[in-house]
Amino acid sequence: MKAVRIAMAGAILIGAPAQSQGPVDGKLGFRDTPILPGGKWHVHDPDRPAPAVVSPAATPGGAPSDAIVLFDGKSMDAWHGERGPWTLGKGVMTVPSRASSGGENNLISKQEFGDVQLHLEFRSPNPPTKSSQDRGNSGIWFMQRYEVQILDGYRNPTYADGTVGSVYAWKPPLVNPSRPPGEWQSYDIIFERPRFAADGKLVRPAYVTALLNGVLVQNHQAMLGTTAWRKIAQYQAHADKAPIQLQDHDSPVSFRNIWVRPLPEEAIAQDLKGAAQ
Ligand code: MG
Repeated sequence: MKAVRIAMAGAILIGAPAQSQGPVDGKLGFRDTPILPGGKWHVHDPDRPAPAVVSPAATPGGAPSDAIVLFDGKSMDAWHGERGPWTLGKGVMTVPSRASSGGENNLISKQEFGDVQLHLEFRSPNPPTKSSQDRGNSGIWFMQRYEVQILDGYRNPTYADGTVGSVYAWKPPLVNPSRPPGEWQSYDIIFERPRFAADGKLVRPAYVTALLNGVLVQNHQAMLGTTAWRKIAQYQAHADKAPIQLQDHDSPVSFRNIWVRPLPEEAIAQDLKGAAQ
């Protein structure tokens, strides 16, 4: 097939010159195309590995085939509490009262993670009690350091960098898509761990992308450091993997359907620095 041109204000190429789409050595693609930034692959390279096949869940929000299920409603075996287990019933786990735990009782995953995709569903206590930071407060602490806030954010005024969807004490959510207390809400979060040099210096901060109830609340947001209260977060070098922690903030927040997918290095966003433009 020859290149096809149509006469308009300046000819517009709408077809492609004759080229084989393959198979090239039994594979589909091209080797007579330019090399992409990175210097490894042609455009449409037939040798570029096909992505691994992952079966999505039958229902939205369900765990795909390559996920690690951290809570399926039946077992809390993937976790340990600082002072004992959380309350389990009717497929739901709930932060126990301080009185029954004997104090603050954060829940810690037994497995450790670095870069990770996480899905989690939570429910704020209903009817709500208290206000501001004392209403339905919990949180997802990636690597036990970096908090994405859980709060009852429905008609509950508080400081913006502490409401649900915030990177606590740093970035308010882009919007507040909260559902009323008593309704299940979903978080889908991509967390990229920070990178440190051998001497402990920060090379690349942690980044977080978060969707709350399917609505973007953080878009590849750099994190300031280890979450702190009334202070500016700072980084301290740590290992490449650490547990995920769910916060006990003395509110009976409930959880269900928690799964993660550890992410490979190629999942980390690359810039075009050094690439031919
Ligand atoms: Mg919190």
